[in-house]
Amino acid sequence: MVVTRKHKQICAGCDSPMVERTKEHFWPRWLINRTNTASTAVKISKDKSVNPLTLTVPLCKMCNSDFGRELEAPVSQIFIDLESGNGISDYEAELLVRWLWKFEGLAWILHNPDGRYTDRSNLRDRVLKPIDGIRSRLTLAIALAETIDPGFGDAPMGIDSISKDNAIYVAGVFSRVAIMVLLRNFENVLPGQFSTYHFLQSDSPERSQKLFFPKTSFPYCRTAIGVTRQIALQLSMAHELYVHQGSSNG
Ligand SMILES: [Zn+2]
Repeated sequence: MVVTRKHKQICAGCDSPMVERTKEHFWPRWLINRTNTASTAVKISKDKSVNPLTLTVPLCKMCNSDFGRELEAPVSQIFIDLESGNGISDYEAELLVRWLWKFEGLAWILHNPDGRYTDRSNLRDRVLKPIDGIRSRLTLAIALAETIDPGFGDAPMGIDSISKDNAIYVAGVFSRVAIMVLLRNFENVLPGQFSTYHFLQSDSPERSQKLFFPKTSFPYCRTAIGVTRQIALQLSMAHELYVHQGSSNG
């Protein structure tokens, strides 16, 4: 039986019918607070902006609390470390990838309310389980902005990538952090401002050490947004093309 999301009774995380309908903010509350965006409009697609507090996704109680505990709580701490120059560990870098994929999956479901995310796994498994299958092929790229532009009002919080089928590439600027996850074979086109990270093997004993110290290479967040948007367009297309070529080649 094909489960559809009609009437939003299906959890966006685990695809199960929800006994009790709960709504979770698409943008986590800690990030809305960190970026001071509770009363502004935030870009959610090429030509659509909404107030972040009004954008919700249907999640069951279990997914809601597991996403909060496993992703949002640690990632809110990782942002503090990143922005204060403390660097991140391999394990924290992986959490950032899965956190970005959570946005990507929820955005996909918002745009395809009756669709299934993938046939292979649901969003819950994808963002809560280790990324072991693909970790050696991924690059995490981060660039920090020195300051939020005077007069910007709030801080950036937006996704700049467009994902139709690839489900890997995600780019955005959140607070002073410009961040993206991409396939390693495309990292040669990254602008020089981005520091890149390659994942250790999943059994490496060094996974909890601080290993990745991204450069502060943008003077202002506005510059970070401009550069990220431009490269995100190019890399989104490159990843879509790559996925389609892959599937047509068998
Ligand atoms: Zn669920």
